[in-house]
Amino acid sequence: MGEISFETLPLCFEFDCAFDEQVQNRRTAAQYMGTLESLVWLNRFVGETPGDSEIGGSSRQVPHACWSRVLPTPSPSPTLELWSKDMAARLGVQRGNTEVLGGGVPIKGMDSYAQRYGGHQFGTWAGQLGDGRAITLGEVECQDGVVELQLKGAGKTPYSRFADGKAVLRSSIREFLCSEAMHHLGVPTTRALSLVATGEPIMRDMMYDGNRAYEQGAIVCRVAPSFIRFGSFQIHSSTGDVETLKTLVEHTIRTHFPFHSHGNDAGLIAWLCQIAEDTALMVAQWMRVGFVHGVMNTDNMSIHGLTIDYGPYGWLEDYNPGWTPNTTDSSTRRYRYGQQPQIAAWNIARLLEAMVPLMADAEQLHGVLSSFTTCFDQHHNQMWSDKLGLTEFRSDDEDLVRNLNSLLQEVETDMTIFFRLLCSLQSPDAEALTSAFYDETTIPKQAWNEWLEAWWSRVDGQPVREAMLQANPKYVLRNWMAQLAIDAAEKGDFTVCESLHELLQNPYDEQPEHEEQWFQKRPEWARHRVGCSMLSCSS
Ligand code: AMP
Ligand code: MG
Repeated sequence: MGEISFETLPLCFEFDCAFDEQVQNRRTAAQYMGTLESLVWLNRFVGETPGDSEIGGSSRQVPHACWSRVLPTPSPSPTLELWSKDMAARLGVQRGNTEVLGGGVPIKGMDSYAQRYGGHQFGTWAGQLGDGRAITLGEVECQDGVVELQLKGAGKTPYSRFADGKAVLRSSIREFLCSEAMHHLGVPTTRALSLVATGEPIMRDMMYDGNRAYEQGAIVCRVAPSFIRFGSFQIHSSTGDVETLKTLVEHTIRTHFPFHSHGNDAGLIAWLCQIAEDTALMVAQWMRVGFVHGVMNTDNMSIHGLTIDYGPYGWLEDYNPGWTPNTTDSSTRRYRYGQQPQIAAWNIARLLEAMVPLMADAEQLHGVLSSFTTCFDQHHNQMWSDKLGLTEFRSDDEDLVRNLNSLLQEVETDMTIFFRLLCSLQSPDAEALTSAFYDETTIPKQAWNEWLEAWWSRVDGQPVREAMLQANPKYVLRNWMAQLAIDAAEKGDFTVCESLHELLQNPYDEQPEHEEQWFQKRPEWARHRVGCSMLSCSS
């Protein structure tokens, strides 16, 4: 804390109470006619924060701005390949407009823009980043309140730097399927509405090893209350632009956190504590299902505590807390599974530093970090309690969890299968867990039986199975599953994508008809295959 000097600011913001009423009045039957055109488009971010005076334009620094107006680039030959009926129903939209979702002519009322933000990447301040290939179409009202619709991969913006503003089919499928799967797992996340194949070939060096090749382009339409990130605030603080920082904080609190105030230290602290707590919940949920984000840079941290920017993420197959899916991260493994809570705290500390200029007494910001730690510990204990079917988490349960963690790492053990089998164990006998181990000949059976007996006596032979079945999913989007979907889609066959999309809408259900295909350990072919165990940021 304290790297940035601060000054006390006059508090002159007036709350615009009339706004919500205006929105309510505009909510008419027309909105529910079922098309994107019939939605009421709002443009609050553009209306309430300072922007770029130029429209579009080439890559450049855009000081003092929160956004730049930019039009999506139309796709040469768009086809709507994936559609989330669930998300669409929440929006009150029955069918997609392929042209619009493929970056074509905007709908009347849209005021599309790219957001400006900065970020710490792999622990180092990277300066201005911004939406290099994401373009927000606008905000619309839906069942859950107002949400932002954003196209990812729809062309260059002033923040594209040296890149093309496009996204390839493989990474778009990974974002579409995984964000929808996470939602149904109960993990806070941005969502996906559609995936449009653009019909445009895009050049990528997938593993950054000089092997460049053309891949198919795609655009995902993603949805969230907002795409404001930690880095959205950092960029203004880093340049000493306190005025813009203050305006953005006011807009954010008023629009997205209306129960908080921004006029004094106490209000700001309460708001930041909420962000810290939402982030703690998100990371605890990642740990529960074995998700590794892979690029927890501060520009990839949502202020809503949502999983955002699906890139080289992965799912634990064998339980290895040191694993990171991201080959760019292979030397320090900064973003490894077991370090995600600490990294979240580190990122929150950077957000707090960015708020120093707005605080009369910046020392109070330290309390927000404690609130993250307390909240994460609570969720983490609850998580273990649910995963193990305990009625409550007691301090002496820590040994049980610690011993389990080390046993799970002793030989290669599939996390998802292990916990799912544990849900239906009828006696403390490792025999029933055999299929969770990769090599059945090396299972340390005696050690397992000892642990199982300790657990069994802790739960009096009656684990809370309902809680276990809701905490231990049967199906997650393992990398090799996504890869099979991608392999087929790249040949024009989206049926695997569709069946995974459907399967993962009910990840806690048995779905016995899918067991043989998808309730499986990582197949040998996937062990060293690019896209399965190795992923890069190239997307
Ligand atoms: P990420 O870590 O993938 O979320 O991206 C980091 C930064 O790079 C963000 O500012 C992105 O907008 C930008 N970026 C990534 N890929 C591209 C691309 N193909 N074209 C333009 N900008 C990109
Ligand atoms: Mg990003």
